[in-house]
Amino acid sequence: MSDIKKNILELRKTVPSHVKIIAVSKTKPITAIREAYEAGQRAFGENYVQEIIEKQPQLPQDIEWHFIGHLQSNKVKNIAPFVSYIHAVHSVKLLQEIEKQAAKNERMIKCFLQFHIADEDTKHGFDTSAYKEELSGVNWSEFPHVEISGVMGMASFVENQKQIELEFEKLTHIFQELKSSIFKDNANFTEISMGMSGDWPLAVDKGSTMIRVGSSIFGSRL
Ligand SMILES: *Cc1c(COP(=O)(O)O)cnc(C)c1O
Repeated sequence: MSDIKKNILELRKTVPSHVKIIAVSKTKPITAIREAYEAGQRAFGENYVQEIIEKQPQLPQDIEWHFIGHLQSNKVKNIAPFVSYIHAVHSVKLLQEIEKQAAKNERMIKCFLQFHIADEDTKHGFDTSAYKEELSGVNWSEFPHVEISGVMGMASFVENQKQIELEFEKLTHIFQELKSSIFKDNANFTEISMGMSGDWPLAVDKGSTMIRVGSSIFGSRL
């Protein structure tokens, strides 16, 4: 059995069944993705627009593609024809562009609102203290081709487990707050996308429903 297959089967045994695994295949070749596919994996995550649009046509059409990287508005049109989920929606302006391109393609795209939970300027997302004002001013009926599925965040890249834990807790708290206010009538607002190879057990412990795992499946990236 290939390592990739083994890693996936092992991961499935460890991850609780209510948590969905997104296999993050960025920088990895088509052959590696095929191996994961043959192990039954269908949800794949990519970070770069150029890369995902090159890979997608070469792979089985029943793959569920998750765009998990930082997305610029002018590139939405390139992925809108096929992408199922966009995880890192960091602004209302980006959401408006996703709506426009999803409508053009007569599709529905599932989106996660990204929150800036880390203590690092390089990460993106809505501000965790100012988001309420911004999001409650939005007319959500103007996005018929977008399904707001939940929230997404990335913890700081640090050794300190306590800090990571607090950041994940913060995201779960924001999710609950939104679920009981702005999105209380949205039955699709159910997911918390948090946790990667290094920190997913902690994320699951803190309420994650979707983990994005790359190196633990495909090996480290150079
Ligand atoms: C690369 C990446 C992952 C996966 O990282 P690993 O540590 O390899 O599991 C998850 N989420 C995002 C947003 C990423 O960019």
